[in-house]
Amino acid sequence: MVDERPCAVCNRPAKPEYRPFCSKRCADVDLNRWLSEQYRIPTEEPPDGEEPPPDA
Ligand SMILES: [Zn+2]
Repeated sequence: MVDERPCAVCNRPAKPEYRPFCSKRCADVDLNRWLSEQYRIPTEEPPDGEEPPPDA
């Protein structure tokens, strides 16, 4: 009964229905973070900002 881990996103006490998170919002945050890492190539990350199309 001592196995209460804090929310992996905000470190608040996790709710049983949302474990290992404290809320659906934190679960979504972690999911989105995980998904974005899956879809992103970890090398040669361009800086933030919209670049104009190459054809001038
Ligand atoms: Zn949380």
